[in-house]
Amino acid sequence: MLAFATQPLLGRPKSLSTGQSSCPRRRQTVVASLKVAVAGGGLGGLAVAGALLQKGFDVRVYEQASSYKPFGGPIQVQSNALALLQDINESLTRAISADGTATGNRKSGIKDGLSDAWYCQFDTGAPAKKRNLPLTHVIDRPKLQEALAKFVISQSPRAIRTSSRVVGYCNHADHVDVLLENGTTESADVLVGADGIWSSVRAQMHGEDARSSASYSGYHCFTATCKYVSEDVDEISYKIYLGKKQYFVASDVGQGRVQWYAFLGRPAGSETQGEKLGFLSSKFDGWSPEVQEILNATEEGEVEARDLYDRAPFVRKGWIDERVVLLGDAAHPMMPNLGQGGCMAFEDAYTLASSLGELGSNASRDQVHQALERYQRKRFGRTAIVQGLAQMSSNLLFHYERLATGGVQAFLGWGVFWSTIGSVIVGGSMPLVLDFLYVNLVDATEQRTSDIPESPTKAWATVKASSRQN
Ligand SMILES: Cc1cc2nc3c(=O)[nH]c(=O)nc-3n(C[C@H](O)[C@H](O)[C@H](O)COP(=O)(O)OP(=O)(O)OC[C@H]3O[C@@H](n4cnc5c(N)ncnc54)[C@H](O)[C@@H]3O)c2cc1C
Repeated sequence: MLAFATQPLLGRPKSLSTGQSSCPRRRQTVVASLKVAVAGGGLGGLAVAGALLQKGFDVRVYEQASSYKPFGGPIQVQSNALALLQDINESLTRAISADGTATGNRKSGIKDGLSDAWYCQFDTGAPAKKRNLPLTHVIDRPKLQEALAKFVISQSPRAIRTSSRVVGYCNHADHVDVLLENGTTESADVLVGADGIWSSVRAQMHGEDARSSASYSGYHCFTATCKYVSEDVDEISYKIYLGKKQYFVASDVGQGRVQWYAFLGRPAGSETQGEKLGFLSSKFDGWSPEVQEILNATEEGEVEARDLYDRAPFVRKGWIDERVVLLGDAAHPMMPNLGQGGCMAFEDAYTLASSLGELGSNASRDQVHQALERYQRKRFGRTAIVQGLAQMSSNLLFHYERLATGGVQAFLGWGVFWSTIGSVIVGGSMPLVLDFLYVNLVDATEQRTSDIPESPTKAWATVKASSRQN
């Protein structure tokens, strides 16, 4: 496999706009396999690198961070994504499942935050099992990242280059130059922009400023993981508590821990004065005892807070500029409500590797472009729908009181509204959403068997008992 050549940039182009006119010409040497440069070594970047290496591509990942540090709490890898990771590599998926905790083997549900009454419960395991998909797991983000990075490095030890920020690119007829912040340039046959929601690659592709290319959703999110085992952990893995213009989500993440999110409507950039936990305790005062117990069980230093950004699908601008293509959050940033942002990045990775995998090593510019278009065609509609569903569910959960104070509410009263019609809408739509997510797996292997172990299924009761003793 050929290594990437690093050369000082012989005069940076005046403009980083798309097209070839301002780009310095460099001759591409003949290569044994197509070279793919990936901007961004996050979930999507590492997954596509691993999948492409499996197919014999020469891959280099450029990650701006100087090293992979433990960062971020647990993340759901849902059945649709786990199934495609399994198609990419069985051992990788087993490693993820072994490091994670199955949540798809129990129910999820929505409660009223104040009264603690159930609106509805739904089963994420049954639609997955029906299609022989592995069950949804949660796994700590650093562990997931580590499993993906190991998978990449095991195939190509020098594939990941840290401290390498991509600042632009130049398309040429026979290659693309990748411009790095340190002033060097690398050449490749294809550049994948997997550099997240504030993507520099997308900014150049769409001729916009990276920092203004996503819009504030109106929601601010606090999150942490704490030692806590819910009374009903054997039956319910994931709960949403609804309130007035705010809601709270709690998920079992294994080893006697709960990961929680508190979503509040706040202006962008709002600062929290004093302790975050004190602020949240007052915001959720009078809510379900479980919400208060979870907040009480959390260490102040564990709480992270961030504004949430998303964007409507790039219907006019698309994801492709000649030899450059977008993937993951760079292509379709979305609200975290459905826990599908990373899952969609994994689906992208699988599909892009499949499309490029159809090319020969001497593929022409047109063939490369057609492969990228095949990928975009397969992914655009599905990701746009998931972006829309995530935005809709976010609005529905947040504005439920507004719905409830409409004409129907005047007739029924809001508690009655939500315990009847509201629960029918949400409870009835969730199986449809899951059907959509789990049934439309692009190019997925027909003969899949769901033999990824549900890990660790070992007695929550034991965890519960020991956690109560501590
Ligand atoms: C609160 C919250 C909870 C979530 N929960 C879930 C969940 O449960 N399940 C789920 O599937 N998704 C979840 N998501 C969404 C998920 O985190 C993202 O969709 C996912 O990380 C996208 O992967 P990515 O590779 O596209 O981008 P990222 O993971 O953001 O990776 C981008 C990478 O590119 C690097 N980078 C950026 N710019 C450059 C540059 N110019 N040059 C080089 N490198 C660069 C960054 O350092 C980073 O490593 C959640 C999101 C939030 C905010």
